[in-house]
Amino acid sequence: MKRLSILGSTGSIGTQALEVITSLPGEFQVVAMTARRNSALLAEQARRFQVKAVAIVDETAHDDLKERLADTRIEVLTGLEGLQAIAGRDDVDLCLNGIVGGAGMGPTIAALNAGVDVALSNKESLVMAGEYITALVQRKGVHIYPVDSEHSAIWQCLVGEQGDQIRRLILTGSGGPFRTWPREKLADVTRDEALQHPNWNMGPKITIDSATMMNKGLEVIEARWLFNLDPDKVDILIHPQSIVHSMVEFVDGSIKAQLGVPDMKVPIQYALTYPEHKPSQWPRLDLAQVATLTFEPPDLEKFPCIALAYDALIRGGSAPAVLNIANDLAVAAFLAEYISFPDIPAMIGKAVAEHPFVEHPGPEEIEDLGNWTRDHIVHTWNIHPPV
Ligand code: MG
Repeated sequence: MKRLSILGSTGSIGTQALEVITSLPGEFQVVAMTARRNSALLAEQARRFQVKAVAIVDETAHDDLKERLADTRIEVLTGLEGLQAIAGRDDVDLCLNGIVGGAGMGPTIAALNAGVDVALSNKESLVMAGEYITALVQRKGVHIYPVDSEHSAIWQCLVGEQGDQIRRLILTGSGGPFRTWPREKLADVTRDEALQHPNWNMGPKITIDSATMMNKGLEVIEARWLFNLDPDKVDILIHPQSIVHSMVEFVDGSIKAQLGVPDMKVPIQYALTYPEHKPSQWPRLDLAQVATLTFEPPDLEKFPCIALAYDALIRGGSAPAVLNIANDLAVAAFLAEYISFPDIPAMIGKAVAEHPFVEHPGPEEIEDLGNWTRDHIVHTWNIHPPV
């Protein structure tokens, strides 16, 4: 039995991971789990999976969680220290990190430091600290298994292949809810319109990232680190049906693709069962029913977040970290209806351009940049993003 910890167990990835685990009886033991503030669901999950320990990050939810688990022997931790303690447990084989945003970076590093492989849904970890984390992976002899559907596709296409024979990666993206909207109309986009993703059912943060297409930009940076490729070898292709999850082109012109229905349980399951494909009960792809797959180039003028991400990746150093930190804050501000949709790239671009550049940022420098970016946004935009 593979022993697991699940970070962010009450979120979109966490709950789907628990569905996968339930569907494969006898394969996994969930040792510990964490959530941000949903103490009721975390307590229910902890009982159902008979875990040893839980952590709730929001300290105001601690007493409630403790009370709900009072008649059990489950250890209850709290705050960021509690989260780090669970992430850093060395009595598990694999840590699934389904935390949203930059808050996931510290736990990824804690797990790797404990010598534990990470099934990584939190792409922000690699966007912010790609150089530091890939060096840590090397040093510790551990692995990162991608959960992000595009990176899972590329990973599957690369089984048995040599890295030096890759000509480029082709990351597919649906184009989000505004793919066919005229550019002028994007100024008036509402929160609810941006939360309507055409194909994927995901949490609010990544859904807004999909609407701005920053999600694809962050995925380019994630791919650069996961597969150790230069930025000019990672391309984006819009594919509105979300059936082809990504592709790899080799030096001889041959292209491999991985296909499936848009259902995160498939890449979650592969990350948990790797190197095996296990039987599953999820809906299957029927290509005769889909009938048509279409592709088009991304619209870089309509979606400036894509260019911001490429520019940050090429500049390197601390630029991608600030890009991600500013994006977390801008998305939170947009969800709170403090700023408009076009303000999101404007806010990010200004923070990246003006930040105090660091060549090789580690976790401490990135934390300092987090404080700098928040102060910069508060002063420049006169808002307090609620995150
Ligand atoms: Mg993705």
